[in-house]
Amino acid sequence: MAELVLAGLGKAYGDGTRAVTKLDLEIQDGEFLVLVGPSGCGKTTALRMVAGLETVSEGEIRIGDRVVNDIPSRDRDVAMVFQSYALYPHLNVFDNIAFGLTLRRMPKTDIEQRVRRVAEMLELTDHLDRKPRNLSGGQRQRVAMGRAMVRAPQVFLMDEPLSNLDAKLRVQMRAQIARMQRDLGVTTVYVTHDQTEAMTLGDRVAVMKGGVLQQVAPPQELYDRPVNLFVSGFIGSPGMNLIQAGLTVDDQGQHWVKLNSDTLRLPDSILQERPALAQYVGRDVVVGIRPEDMEDATLVDQAEGALLHSVADLVEAMGSDVLVHFPVDAKPADTADTRALAEDSGADTVRAPSDSIVLVGRFSPRSRIY
Ligand code: ATP
Repeated sequence: MAELVLAGLGKAYGDGTRAVTKLDLEIQDGEFLVLVGPSGCGKTTALRMVAGLETVSEGEIRIGDRVVNDIPSRDRDVAMVFQSYALYPHLNVFDNIAFGLTLRRMPKTDIEQRVRRVAEMLELTDHLDRKPRNLSGGQRQRVAMGRAMVRAPQVFLMDEPLSNLDAKLRVQMRAQIARMQRDLGVTTVYVTHDQTEAMTLGDRVAVMKGGVLQQVAPPQELYDRPVNLFVSGFIGSPGMNLIQAGLTVDDQGQHWVKLNSDTLRLPDSILQERPALAQYVGRDVVVGIRPEDMEDATLVDQAEGALLHSVADLVEAMGSDVLVHFPVDAKPADTADTRALAEDSGADTVRAPSDSIVLVGRFSPRSRIY
């Protein structure tokens, strides 16, 4: 186990594509870090550079106290699990798991011992003689995990290891990976485009876009304190409602946000928490409301009555929650905007592509709001 440091890491492919730009990350010994972002954001490239499967254009990768830029993949003491599992079809489960150890000419009895221990952890003991083609997707995935675990590497690298599984199995395997990583305490970098996976697995989550790191933080902090509109919109499912509005203040000192035809009262608590908002009075702002906060924040105010005028056009019952879609006469914000949401960032001037937006609310099925 070891600390993994990426310092100013960059990758430009031969055709000029800039896949990763100045990536700085310090992953603590034993930490589970998830790299998340939309397709093409450079997360796989970053992981492959750490694995030694891709050359580094700029910057440095350190594992423990070694700079590994020029160290071949097999000598980096990392183990990678691929989306495709990359199992050897002609080898049975035992030999697939043992492969890396056999290659290193480990004594047979040691190999036997290690493979059996890992197979037991992953509930594969009864399948050790089978070939990959005779296994289910979930079992193949566990063999791929077993092959990484058996080597007891300093760092685990996982590239979308669950994306080929059905939804139910994905949730089960997610929990198994979390337990396994906690029990083994191996420094882990896990790549996914699925923000739910990122939030549930990561000690910290690093959000990337266009090859650039946007924010790295523990999941709850990312959720509560996104640094820009992109992270605001990307983290959370369904995503945060982001609406263009104008901020005004009335004679009583009450703050309001004005959409095209509706006006919402801004809860006092928001102003107390973020006094800098006062500077934005008279200017355009972006209002972000999590679907689960719709009831509290916007739709009904005990004193004022209904504030947002809309007729729900879609209701999705999900058992534990009900998602309600509200078309609203307002401008959506630009969720590709990566400018910081700092007090003087100028993030109040984002482009507004159209004048109609559908807000999503998440309510309890017992709620009578919709
Ligand atoms: P996905 O989730 O779709 O796998 P990703 O976030 O992992 O995407 P990368 O695979 O790292 O993204 O790709 C980042 C960028 O680099 C993309 O624009 C991609 O087209 C480009 N890219 C990846 N591999 C190569 C290559 N071998 N040559 C040129 N460009 C590449």
